[in-house]
Formats: sequence, C-alpha cells, structure tokens
Amino acid sequence: MKKRILAMIIAICFIFSACQQQKNTIQDMAQIQMFAMDTFIDLKAAGENGQQALLKAEKEINHLEQLFSTTLEKSEIYAINQNAGIAPITVTEDTFYLIQKAKQYYEFTDGAFDITIAPVVKAWGFTEEQKRVPSEQEIQQKLELVNQNKLHIDAENNTVFLEKQNMAIDLGGIAKGYASDKVNEILKQEGITSAVISLGGNVSVIGKKEDGSKWKVAIQDPLNEQGFAGVLEVEDTCVITSGVYQRFFEQYGKRYHHIIDTKTGKPAETGLLSVTIVCKNGTMADMLSTSIMVAGLEKGSELWKKSQDFGVIFITEEKEIYITEDISDLFTLDEDTAYKVSVIKK
Ligand code: AMP
Ligand code: MG
Repeated sequence: MKKRILAMIIAICFIFSACQQQKNTIQDMAQIQMFAMDTFIDLKAAGENGQQALLKAEKEINHLEQLFSTTLEKSEIYAINQNAGIAPITVTEDTFYLIQKAKQYYEFTDGAFDITIAPVVKAWGFTEEQKRVPSEQEIQQKLELVNQNKLHIDAENNTVFLEKQNMAIDLGGIAKGYASDKVNEILKQEGITSAVISLGGNVSVIGKKEDGSKWKVAIQDPLNEQGFAGVLEVEDTCVITSGVYQRFFEQYGKRYHHIIDTKTGKPAETGLLSVTIVCKNGTMADMLSTSIMVAGLEKGSELWKKSQDFGVIFITEEKEIYITEDISDLFTLDEDTAYKVSVIKK
C-alpha cells in the first residue's frame, strides 16, 4: 500500500513539475486531494469555477465508492454478493450500467475481463486484510464460482442476481475508470476546459494546459519504482495503466500481483509488466488495461486491431516497449531507461 501511494505521489509530482516550467499553469489551478476507492486521488481544475467544480467531483467519487465497494456493508455490490443464490437486488443506474458494461466487455475480451472473478481475488487476499497464496484445490473450488452466465441482469427492473451461493462480483478493474468519466462529465458541465483527474494509475485530462500546450503524463517504469519509462503528451483523453507493481505481495521470492487470469485463477503471467491504454472513454480504458494484462501481447494486439477507439503501450519483462502506431508520436522514451521500443501496426 505504501509503495503504491509513493508511486502515485511521484507520478502526480511529475505532472506537477512538467507543468511547473510554464508559470501560471498548475499554480493557478484549484486542487483537491483525497483517498477513496482504495487509492490516492488528485483532482485539479483551472478556471474561476475550479474549486466549486472539484467539490462536486469529490462528492461524486465518494458516492460511487459507497455504491461499488466490495467491503462496505452498505454498498450495492455488497448487497448483490450477500444475496447470491438468494434473491435479485434492485440497484441504482450507475451500478446497473457498470455491470451491464462489464458483461459486454467479457464478450469483447473473450473472457479475460470477468467481474465474477471476485471469489478468486478474495482467496488471494487482495480484498482482505492479509494477502496469501491459496492452495491449488482452493483455487479450483473458487474457479467453479466464476461464471458470467450465472450473473443475471434485468434491465426492466434494474436488478442484478448471482445465481449460485458464494458467487460474488468485484468492479475493482473498472470502477476507477468509470469514476473518472463521471468526474469528467461533472467538470465539463461546470464549464471547466482544463483539468487533470488522477485516480491512482488512472489519469484523465480535459483540454490542454492553460498555456495551450498538451498535458504530459508520465508512464511508470515497472522495473524502477521511482522512475518513468517515458512520457505521453495528450489532450482530452484518458491514460490508464495496469501493472504488476501496483498491488502485490511476495512469498519465497516470488511476486504475486492482483490481476487474475480467469483461466488459471492465478496472477496473470503473460510476460507483461504493465499495459497502458489511451482512450477517450475511461471505463473502457480501465477495463482494457486490466484485461490486456491477462490476454497478453499477442491477443492484446489483436483486440487493438479490431478497434479504432484506443491505443496501447505494452511493457514486457524482456525490457521491451510495444506501442501501437496511433499513439506512437505522442510518446517520448525516458533516455535513462534501457527499454527497446517497437511500433505495432495494423
Ligand atoms: P486494475 O488495477 O484496473 O488493473 O484492476 C485490478 C483489479 O480488478 C483487481 O484488484 C481485482 O479487483 C479486479 N480483477 C482482477 N482480475 C480481474 C479480471 N481478470 N477481470 C476483471 N477484474 C479483475
Ligand atoms: Mg482496470
């Protein structure tokens, strides 16, 4: 947890210092920092209405956490999970929308993204106090509960039902991206034309900096906690990263991270250290970064080839960076790193 917060603070400081060179940019922006959705959040908005807009955004994030948390006993997700095998639960629009989206994404990713993975995530302790390596038998038992076909949604009544007892859902792979979309919407409604929203590894920018230049978003070097692999220069988009360094524990010298391969029930081992998605839609970006960590470089590239909507940066254990051609011009490699960069073409 401490490591993650440190990495996030470094990333935010980077955005800050990158903008420092142009005076009257970040300094004049309203700012709110908070801890919610199990992550450090930093919101900045320019303009007269900045502070008021951010207060509304803060309220929305807290509201979404109350809906989506797997551990808060008053959350809608908690109620759905508690009522697995018992009864359908009526939920609000936000929760229904996100679960419906997650079901579509299951199809789109050929099962790599699956919110019914919750019992397995729990067995590894990622949603508990204590992280641990479950036995092979326990993993197999929990995998039997992972079943998208037994997650039923009813659009007429806004209900969600898990058919089998002990099934559960976990929106951890998608909720922060959705929150960034909602914050984006609120800030735009409030007339904000220049802002940076950072929810842990999820960055969303509105417009450009006040001086007219693009935002610089640093991409964490997965092999160096304090360093960056490079920088993306962007406007009006989301830059969302999932990586093996974000949430993990070590046992007998082996690292176990929080992104679970739905086939094996174990942390995904595809040779990828991180996946960054550049996409206008934060919900989609968040889902994709998680699921491409599971799908791997080859299948992830295939997904990209099928779509016009997003760009990808893959960082591998072999110290390679693969970047899709649509975003390659936006990326500058940090010269202190040893990564070899290749461009993926359609
Ligand atoms: P992210 O940090 O966005 O990559 O999301 C990781 C989180 O998503 C984990 O902490 C779990 O809560 C959840 N998760 C892990 N594996 C999967 C998966 N294969 N499909 C959907 N959600 C997952
Ligand atoms: Mg994600």
